[in-house]
Amino acid sequence: MTRVAIVGIAGRMCGRIAHLVHEAEDLDLTGGVEFPGSDAIGKDLGELSGSERTGHHVVDNLETIVSATDAVVVFTAPPDPTVTAAEIAGAAGKPLIVGTTGMIPEQIEAMTSAVKNVPCVFAPNFSIGVTVLTKLIEDAARILGNDYDVEVVEAHHRYKQDAPSGTAYALAEAAARGLERDLNAVGVYGRHGDTGARSQAEIGVHALRAGDIVGEHTVMFGGIGETVQIAHRAQSRDTFAVGVVRSIRWASEADAGMYNMRDVLGIS
Ligand code: NAD
Repeated sequence: MTRVAIVGIAGRMCGRIAHLVHEAEDLDLTGGVEFPGSDAIGKDLGELSGSERTGHHVVDNLETIVSATDAVVVFTAPPDPTVTAAEIAGAAGKPLIVGTTGMIPEQIEAMTSAVKNVPCVFAPNFSIGVTVLTKLIEDAARILGNDYDVEVVEAHHRYKQDAPSGTAYALAEAAARGLERDLNAVGVYGRHGDTGARSQAEIGVHALRAGDIVGEHTVMFGGIGETVQIAHRAQSRDTFAVGVVRSIRWASEADAGMYNMRDVLGIS
């Protein structure tokens, strides 16, 4: 039985992860962490995620429960508690699954250095469909080549804190890889005003925010006389939670290192 602790347990994503962990026969939901002062502190982990009681309660510091944990899952907003959780899990030698998006490069660097002695799966999108999509986009970009303009459009719910989504970045990066371009040099994030004509090399990335959209991503390849669109629509957060559960099992057997969902699915 793998004992799982979840940081950000009262959040939208972690609620679904907690539910699926609780239902899995080989996983045990034993830990939940929220920020000090949160209404969730002291609540039963099962009750919080709409399942039966677990007898384990939400705490305000991962440090107090990490020794009785075999894997730590972290999805927080804002991102800074994710770095702290990585430091605690890394120091305790526990595998880590991180889904937090919107981290700045310094936070990613701090997290990466904190987990260098443990397996860590870090993915902006744990959906199996989106992971396959990144591979399709890279291949399509390589085959279609420079004659096709690449634009990425994403849509999410009104509460999302960061834009564009981590997945939109990952898809733009996949296209850039296929085209042998550097996204830092060619990424264009939204357009407004007298922009002039589109340059051939740029990769546009655009974010929509509305209602309760779980997550939609479309990559458009615009050529002369045709447009190719490859799209993914998440209908519920369970698509991510299923990928997280798969990652917990995979990371529990993995060597130390930084991994993504392509590693978990064995996609090269
Ligand atoms: P949310 O706001 O519903 O949940 C975030 C949770 O983090 C909240 O419960 C909040 O109280 C908690 N938190 C804040 N400070 C904390 C602290 N110090 N210690 C512990 N918990 C703390 O947000 P959400 O929709 O669940 O998204 C969370 C993150 O996951 C975002 O970055 C989002 O973009 C990302 N996300 C990733 C994927 C993926 O597949 N990788 C999918 C969906 C969302």
